[in-house]
Amino acid sequence: MGDFDGKVVLITGAAAGIGRAAAIGFAQAGAKVVVADIDVAGMNETVASIGDAAIGVAVNVGDEVSCQAMVDATIAKFGRLDVLFSNAGISGNRARTADVSTQDWHHVININLNGVFFCARAAIPEMLKTGGGVIVNTASVDGQVGMATVPHYVASKHAVIGLTKNIALEYGKDNIRAVAIAPGFVATQMTAQGLAEEDHALLNSMIPLGRAARPEEIANMVLWLSSDKASYVTGSCHNVDAGLVSGFSLPG
Ligand code: NAD
Repeated sequence: MGDFDGKVVLITGAAAGIGRAAAIGFAQAGAKVVVADIDVAGMNETVASIGDAAIGVAVNVGDEVSCQAMVDATIAKFGRLDVLFSNAGISGNRARTADVSTQDWHHVININLNGVFFCARAAIPEMLKTGGGVIVNTASVDGQVGMATVPHYVASKHAVIGLTKNIALEYGKDNIRAVAIAPGFVATQMTAQGLAEEDHALLNSMIPLGRAARPEEIANMVLWLSSDKASYVTGSCHNVDAGLVSGFSLPG
């Protein structure tokens, strides 16, 4: 018996990184999984690595029509939606606040924040029809503290935590739980492309456990939060950061 036998799980950003690890983890725990992403080639790889328990649905989470179509495709295939893992995100171009273009600002906010809203808004009515569900939104430790030169990313992730609290407040009595996760430094294409080699070493030196997370280590928390083992957990944000934002250490 898996924790997710008979459950349907929809994951955005599941073509790579944390989303792919979660898709594989949910499927191993018995779920039917909808692998949703804008990257169709990566999406198909994730689906192939899972097999019959998964389908792929192309989505741009920054487009409300696309998000509704993704949920509609989930219902058309599996008839219900139990877990939404809203995980797609981008880091954006790095610049200090006064140097961020309007286009970059809107792009990051649209995918990281509006996307989470569009997905939740499409998913909640389906969860209400079947007596409840769970929404897990990927924020970041950058949703709790600032990080210089990614002001759009930081603002979007702070807002995701706020939106998650609202969903929890509004739908708790409908048996919908909503939680956020705040990963620290995870070894994915986002950090491989977005950070210089020396930034990796510096970040590792700031992390009490001394290393980046494997995507599976974040997915483990997502699976637990989505399961009945977390039945009394809602409205909260859960750091999976190896202590990165616990405080400051002096050298030596
Ligand atoms: P990743 O780049 O490996 O995966 C992100 C996925 O999102 C990709 O498959 C990408 O194609 C998809 N995506 C991007 N824009 C999309 C769109 N408009 N519509 C649909 N899909 C889209 O990165 P990751 O590290 O696995 O990131 C997953 C989430 O974790 C993101 O929300 C990110 O902000 C968050 N996060 C990552 C880290 C880290 O250190 N890697 C830390 C904290 C939070």
